[in-house]
Amino acid sequence: MNEVLARLGLSEVNPGAASGGWLETHGRVVSSFNPTTGEALASVQLCSAADYRTVVQRAQEAFVGWRMLPAPKRGEIVREIGVALRAHKADLGSLITMEVGKLRSEGEGEVQEAIDMADFAVGLSRQLNGLTMHSERPNHRMYEQWHPLGVVGVITAFNFPHAVWAWNAMLGLVCGDPVIWKPSLKAPLTAIATHQICDAVLARHGWSGVLGLVIGDDADVGEAMIHDRAVPLISATGSCRMGRHIGQAVAARLGRSLLELGGNNAIIVNKDADLDLALRAVAFGAMGTSGERCTTTRRLLLHEDIADTFLPKLVAAYKSVRIGDPLQDGVLVGPLIDEGAVQLFEAAIAAAKTQGAELLAGGARVDGPGHFVQPTLFRAASNLPIVHEETFAPILYVSTWRDLDEAIAMNNAVDQGLSSAIFTDSFRAAERFLSHAGSDCGIANVNIGTSGAEIGGAFGGEKDTGGGREAGSDSWKSYMRRQTNTLNWGTTLPLAQGVKFDL
Ligand code: NAD
Repeated sequence: MNEVLARLGLSEVNPGAASGGWLETHGRVVSSFNPTTGEALASVQLCSAADYRTVVQRAQEAFVGWRMLPAPKRGEIVREIGVALRAHKADLGSLITMEVGKLRSEGEGEVQEAIDMADFAVGLSRQLNGLTMHSERPNHRMYEQWHPLGVVGVITAFNFPHAVWAWNAMLGLVCGDPVIWKPSLKAPLTAIATHQICDAVLARHGWSGVLGLVIGDDADVGEAMIHDRAVPLISATGSCRMGRHIGQAVAARLGRSLLELGGNNAIIVNKDADLDLALRAVAFGAMGTSGERCTTTRRLLLHEDIADTFLPKLVAAYKSVRIGDPLQDGVLVGPLIDEGAVQLFEAAIAAAKTQGAELLAGGARVDGPGHFVQPTLFRAASNLPIVHEETFAPILYVSTWRDLDEAIAMNNAVDQGLSSAIFTDSFRAAERFLSHAGSDCGIANVNIGTSGAEIGGAFGGEKDTGGGREAGSDSWKSYMRRQTNTLNWGTTLPLAQGVKFDL
């Protein structure tokens, strides 16, 4: 067995459910593969719907005590979780690289994001504040308070197999909620290792069952979770297709869902932009993480006056970028997650050509072991159907424009609304892009690319991206229930709005 896996406590076959220790599971056995080599890393015995119910029941039992622990005390435990993650950062980062194929620095970056979320949540645990309001009635006081919500179900995509759970879990924990995680079957080992490290801290303090893990098939475990009234909040990250289904299932039981779905992100480059800055941002945004970020730059909208100078430099960058084993220094583009992803890449290339796009660089899979493709650049009309789709691969479509309003309209013309950026040295252009009539995305940046958000801001997008917000700012409010309290300390019973009801 690989040394990193062994150090993280993984075995050849691992149980796929945990709640206060590992459970005996009853589902099929699946393997997790290294997309760089195609080799199996280890296996997981999935949990069944019945195993899922055991985990939920334990989480509900844990909630009874956890919600009454003062929030700063919960924060202190989350602080220790951050310390534990720091101690395992290198190994966890390597495991992420081995399991999903992102660069080593990005694997470790994910763990750093979880550590940052823990630190953020510790401070937050003393700031879960409500407002006080002035009552219109004499001798009355009115205020709101935030109570823990209950069991939170977290469904994560393969491409951020560690950090996205942390965005949810660190907030959920300080807010007083048990958190049950259903990770992607493409990255179960990262989930097992992460759970083991974090749960050990909770167990040390007698809080077993507050964190749960269920690794199972969507058709039984996934469906059981999204339809379960014992789980008041489902936070789901993944494709728009998945989000549309989960959003409807949760709404049908009047539950709460927090959806973080697909993106189709554009960078606008104005003719007055610092083109060196823009070039680096486009190259990282479009080729980085092999195009497997929700915030990957998929569309480049260039002012027509700079296209002839900018595009040759971009083509050169595409042709020189080093593709290979993401654990090796100097490699900038690793593999796609699996053969299915390579086939979707190839289908998109074929569709783009059929629809009239002009291939400028890349366009093919890379032979050999692993699931490698060439980062690909097309010049394409911005209204081609393929340009409006999110293909989870490194494909960038370049279109040109003359007038900034036209560029903003192109930016907004797709169904997704996650991230967007403009490169410009014009104050007016930047402000126009950020105005009410500007970008319609949840994230809008100036002279920064579309990917690589910090945890301090609320992360998420509009339209088909689902409308959810996670991580910083006031995202914590999704994990709590608001209660408005009015107290009468007088001796009469005045009614609001002057209503009379004298018996
Ligand atoms: P996916 O939609 O195939 O799967 C996402 C998760 O949903 C997986 O864990 C899967 O098992 C689960 N799922 C699917 N059907 C389910 C069901 N019926 N019940 C319960 N769970 C179910 O997505 P993916 O291929 O893993 O990830 C890539 C997608 O995720 C891209 O579209 C990307 O843009 C998006 N994504 C979005 C964000 C964001 O924050 N907006 C972040 C990362 C990834």
